[in-house]
Amino acid sequence: MILRGIGASGGVGMGPAVCLRAAAPDHTERGYTGAEGERARLRAASCQVERETAALAERMRSRTEGSESAILTGQITMLQDPELELQLDQAIRAGECAEAAVDAVFGGYVRLFEGLEDERMRLRAADVQDLQGRLLRALLGCREADLSRLPAGCVLVTRELTPSMAVGLDRERVAAIVTEAGGSASHAAILARALGIPAVLGAPGVLREVENGALVLVDGDAGTALLRPGQEAQEEYRARRAALLRRQVRLEPYRRRPTVDGDGRRLHLYANVGHPAEAVRAAAEGAEGIGLLRTEFLFLDRPEPPTEEEQLAAYLAAARPFPGGRVVVRTLDVGGDKQIPWLALPQERNPFLGCRGLRASFARPELFRVQLRALLRAGAEVPGLRVLLPMVTAVSEVRRVRTMLAQCAGELEGEGVACRPELPLGVMIETPAAARTADLLAGESDFFSIGTNDLTQHTLAADRNDLEVKKLYTPLHPAVLRELREVIRAGRQAGLPVGLCGEAAASPELLPLLLSWGLEEFSVSPALLLETRARIAGWTAEEAGAVERQVMALAGPEEIRAYYDARAYD
Ligand code: PEP
Ligand code: MG
Repeated sequence: MILRGIGASGGVGMGPAVCLRAAAPDHTERGYTGAEGERARLRAASCQVERETAALAERMRSRTEGSESAILTGQITMLQDPELELQLDQAIRAGECAEAAVDAVFGGYVRLFEGLEDERMRLRAADVQDLQGRLLRALLGCREADLSRLPAGCVLVTRELTPSMAVGLDRERVAAIVTEAGGSASHAAILARALGIPAVLGAPGVLREVENGALVLVDGDAGTALLRPGQEAQEEYRARRAALLRRQVRLEPYRRRPTVDGDGRRLHLYANVGHPAEAVRAAAEGAEGIGLLRTEFLFLDRPEPPTEEEQLAAYLAAARPFPGGRVVVRTLDVGGDKQIPWLALPQERNPFLGCRGLRASFARPELFRVQLRALLRAGAEVPGLRVLLPMVTAVSEVRRVRTMLAQCAGELEGEGVACRPELPLGVMIETPAAARTADLLAGESDFFSIGTNDLTQHTLAADRNDLEVKKLYTPLHPAVLRELREVIRAGRQAGLPVGLCGEAAASPELLPLLLSWGLEEFSVSPALLLETRARIAGWTAEEAGAVERQVMALAGPEEIRAYYDARAYD
């Protein structure tokens, strides 16, 4: 039997199930000991949970070096919230025992979060529920399930993975996780990814279908859990594990090597990162730095904009794993498929061609200024910090940002706050307009980063997320290839560093073309770093040039595909 959920943390794992069916602690028998007594009990329980949470945060910090511990310190902040304290106190004064007050107040917040439209906010309900359960257990003196004692190699099956549970998990003991509820944006998913445990979340019915000890095969990439797999599936799994291991052994030597082509020419390999937590993984995988930090994570997950301080902390956290290294931070790129409810951008008939990327930042200059100020401040502490602008279509837009940056730097200096006014400012080349005017943009920018994901869809007029036109969407089309060639040439002629940060940076087919045009910087997702470095090492300039001449002489994407298929590129 196969159950489908959301592949929230990649990889495969198989083992006997350990099912956690923890029911909410029962407190129906508890009586009221008077307002003072209940208040004192609640205070003691709160302190206990605060201490435990601080210890969990510390444990997370020591295990991942990333910023995931902030998820737990966020719970402490919630516990100390004066509004929440007031509501609990009111419930106690109205004659509720501490447990009933916790149930009523926290339960109200859980329902509030669950009712929100934004999926990420809805998933925060799990964090509140986690706190509610732990407070109740502290009040009633029940022990938490001790996840550090799970049998080695098991698959954890539970209704919902709470942040406090996730911290207790050990990769050595837990082969994989399957839950009934939750999504890939939940905090538990972020923690599972940071710990490298394959996870399928939101697989309804899994607790009903699986009994303790039953074999479960979890595929975190496909988002499936195979219950009681047959011999054939088990063998397939073992073969896949063995192939993954062989690949790891083959790629391992590249982890600490510089990126060089087959002639020994030095190139640069960076990581695309969507959250500071991923930066830790990227550094461990051998990235030289961050070639693209997507900052949407800061804005998506909340009902109001992040403050300057929060943004500063996030940029510094992302840079921490790369002391002295390059960190390219892209300003907010919303719109299109990335909507933020509180920004209240206009409803558009064609959002991909609407108020997105830099245009959305110009539409809300007061918010854009906060991000620019945070970046200028981060630049004072991170020498390799650079700013990258999404969805640029005209030189005037870059000039406008330069003016705003200068104003913000002036303000900061006036306030006596440390900043670096001369932050390098780069342009994403991801619209045909930018590609065709790369020579003009080169005069206004400090570097280029080519975004093939958008450039391909806009050049070919084929939506990158539309299954109907999926076949048309390929960078291996003469139109896109010519644009790439021209942009790299324009950048080089102007003496500008040019990188590529779209998915195509890891494409084995595009690689010889990009190398022959002189691209020197590649930015890919952390999982593809070593493979890309190994592939780069396989090309000499002469061999790459030969492929380029043949491919660029072909008339269309079909011919180009056939050319590569005949050569069986890996
Ligand atoms: C791109 O468009 O190629 C890119 C890297 O940006 P995103 O995928 O975030 O739009
Ligand atoms: Mg893009």
